[in-house]
Amino acid sequence: MTKDSILSKVKDEEVVFVRLQFTDLTGIMKNLTIPVEHLEKALDNEIMFDGSSIDGFVRIEESDMYLKPDLNTFMLFPREKKRGKVARLICDVYSADGEPFDGCPRNILKKVRKEAADMGFTMYVGPELEFFLFELDEKGHPTLQTNDAAGYFDMAPNDRAEPARRDMVLALKAMGFEIEASHHECAPGQHEIDFRYVEALSAADNIMTFKMVVRVVAQKHGLHATFMPKPVFGIAGSGMHTNISLFKDGKNCFCDPKGPIGLSEEAYQFIGGLTKHALGMAALTNPTVNSYKRLVSGFEAPTEVAWSPQNRSPMMRIPAKRGSSTRVELRNPDPSVNPYLALASNLAAGLDGIKNRIAAPPPVLENMYDLSSEEKKAMGLLSLPNNLFEAIKELEKDELLMNMLGAHAQKKYIEAKLAEWEAYCCQVSEWEIDRYLTLI
Ligand code: GLN
Ligand code: MG
Ligand code: MG
Ligand code: MG
Repeated sequence: MTKDSILSKVKDEEVVFVRLQFTDLTGIMKNLTIPVEHLEKALDNEIMFDGSSIDGFVRIEESDMYLKPDLNTFMLFPREKKRGKVARLICDVYSADGEPFDGCPRNILKKVRKEAADMGFTMYVGPELEFFLFELDEKGHPTLQTNDAAGYFDMAPNDRAEPARRDMVLALKAMGFEIEASHHECAPGQHEIDFRYVEALSAADNIMTFKMVVRVVAQKHGLHATFMPKPVFGIAGSGMHTNISLFKDGKNCFCDPKGPIGLSEEAYQFIGGLTKHALGMAALTNPTVNSYKRLVSGFEAPTEVAWSPQNRSPMMRIPAKRGSSTRVELRNPDPSVNPYLALASNLAAGLDGIKNRIAAPPPVLENMYDLSSEEKKAMGLLSLPNNLFEAIKELEKDELLMNMLGAHAQKKYIEAKLAEWEAYCCQVSEWEIDRYLTLI
């Protein structure tokens, strides 16, 4: 879209407000709403805000920042009854001197994407976000009570969230999403909605929009949607399987009918890169204290760095489809990620594999959950970090990913994540009370 086409669209559609959205380093969406009269100023990149109150942004002394709307992200929200129409634009953050701000996660993904483009590659991503729907209490606060007791692929009347999920799909479609499927997931109250793969930057934008739409629609149905990776002990957690493919000259270059299991050299090298950087990436693909409660055996979430042509227990799987659908399904990411940083790390790791011709390890055909730790050790398999602290330490050791983040973001991100870890560590949990109060 162009500036003029946006201005005429808002006029035709009688838009009243425009939301200028961006994402902070920890993956929280922020927005500044402007009355439509100020849209032209926004499109000329003249909207300034105070960056000092945003997590991971700047100090008070240098707080003036600019929002630069990405015209391709213009979208209308489905109309609210009786209220005027609202549109949105996703923005990149620029510093006062007119340079792309290096603490803006979207700028970080754009930087890696440029590097891929210079090598002739475009990364496409199809994410599968899982989430829980919980009931609200009398005060409207979320509980841990699920609104149904259904399981994988179940349907109404057992799946009592069908009407909510249908409205989510309709709202997403109205916002331009191409929805491929939606279904009940394994755990009671757990759901998944899948949308079509798109270029990585749009995929990250879509993930942010998707989470917002799902939450808002859930609220309209008197429910709370959460993307927390493991809200309930003892049942499946929520993942964000990330289906990655790489295109060159308009063709999927992971596919090679003559290669072993139909995969190209690039595909193997990309897997090699993801394997090499798996531990360092974890702080970005599994960024919360709670993320590591999901990465335990028995719930279809990976625990080890490995890949397989079929098997769903390792970190990477190659779904059976070939041709333009040839892809690597990265299974450890969860929906608490900052999608810009997570996808940037996946792309940077994969490109490193290709640039340095990193060999993929042999695939693992066994169910990982059945292997003992000795067997895993004998096979040379590394475990994913056990907790956020281990993950941060691995990230600090990974030069490629630290460079990808750049000096500002690496400092702010690690500070924020360490603070999160330290706040968690000094809590006294229910588990400790149950275990020790009467025993000792
Ligand atoms: N919920 C599982 C996870 O944590 C995935 C289950 C599935 O998609 N079949 O990744
Ligand atoms: Mg799925
Ligand atoms: Mg699933
Ligand atoms: Mg999947």
